[in-house]
Amino acid sequence: EVLYDIIIIGAGPIGIACALKAKKSGLSYLVLEKGPLVNSLYNYPANMQFFSTSEKLEIEEIPFISKEAKPSKQEALEYYRRIATSNQLDIHLFEEVVDVKKKVDFEVITSKKTYLSRQLIIATGFFDIPNLLKVPGEDLPKVTHYYNDPHLYAFQNVVVIGASNSAVDAALEIYRKGGKVTMLVRGDSIGERVKYWVKPDIENRIKEGAITVFYNSEVEKITPNSVFFKHNGVIKSIENDFVVALTGYLPNFSFLKRLGVDLTGKYLIPSYDPKTMETNVAGIYLAGVICGGKETHKWFIENSRVHAEMIISDIMEKG
Ligand code: FAD
Repeated sequence: EVLYDIIIIGAGPIGIACALKAKKSGLSYLVLEKGPLVNSLYNYPANMQFFSTSEKLEIEEIPFISKEAKPSKQEALEYYRRIATSNQLDIHLFEEVVDVKKKVDFEVITSKKTYLSRQLIIATGFFDIPNLLKVPGEDLPKVTHYYNDPHLYAFQNVVVIGASNSAVDAALEIYRKGGKVTMLVRGDSIGERVKYWVKPDIENRIKEGAITVFYNSEVEKITPNSVFFKHNGVIKSIENDFVVALTGYLPNFSFLKRLGVDLTGKYLIPSYDPKTMETNVAGIYLAGVICGGKETHKWFIENSRVHAEMIISDIMEKG
């Protein structure tokens, strides 16, 4: 049976960066990915534009050429796919890691088979598990936690829940393609981290009444034709065809716990050494945006791509 030096879980941008670094360092490695390559990016909105400029999304100094300063989703898919193909990275797609057992080495159990590895890198991101509203009707087919294409919503009554970047982008796009948008926002303003070049756009659409917003609102229940919500303590309802609930996503905490990784504080930050990215479990490393626990805005491609170098150096040093 093959014993890998490293198994990398997740073929997002950072998992790919780790694989490239491992390969260049002469280590044996395998990447296991439950979906297509860069699954999270593949599931981003069809017309999204990254907030980072393309050079900030580059890994291993491979130039990322995009038409505009900030690349589109399609350009990013092209970039990371070409890196994987040109470097012939060993990646198994549509093979989910379901469990890991620590024997002398790590036994990595997937939906297809079992592998052995001396070290593990968890680069599973946070895009798989939506932060649910936990209200009746959330499971209706008209409700989504993944916004894709505005065309679906033309001429429809659409409720967008949330006030962060994803919610604001979706609200503006749906409005511009002829959807009637109502935003339900828990706080009393549009999110403070909304991109500085988008903020005036949404604020002005709200001011002129093109997009309706209810601040200080909490959704109570969703029915096939309506959404009920508490607004400043009073229950209201509006007619509704679609709900786009963009209330954030969470890393897979139960998976981390099963591996023995400690989660600390109210944001459940996984415990790791910030110099090496090794967790409290010897031989298990974290890479990419999973490091932030519930604080999913803290890490992105730009500031977490360095994890690859840190981890592989540590593994090389330990021999
Ligand atoms: P991910 O890309 O999420 O990759 C994790 C991978 O692990 C996925 O492919 C997933 O399918 C796989 N996986 C999960 N569980 C398993 C399992 N059990 N077995 C096998 N595989 C598994 N960042 C920026 O730097 N700039 C931007 O402009 C930017 N724009 C963004 C826009 C949106 C709408 C969103 C949601 C995020 C954006 N981010 C941006 C954040 C960025 O997407 C993430 O930083 C990036 O995807 C993180 O890379 P990652 O490799 O850590 O995780």
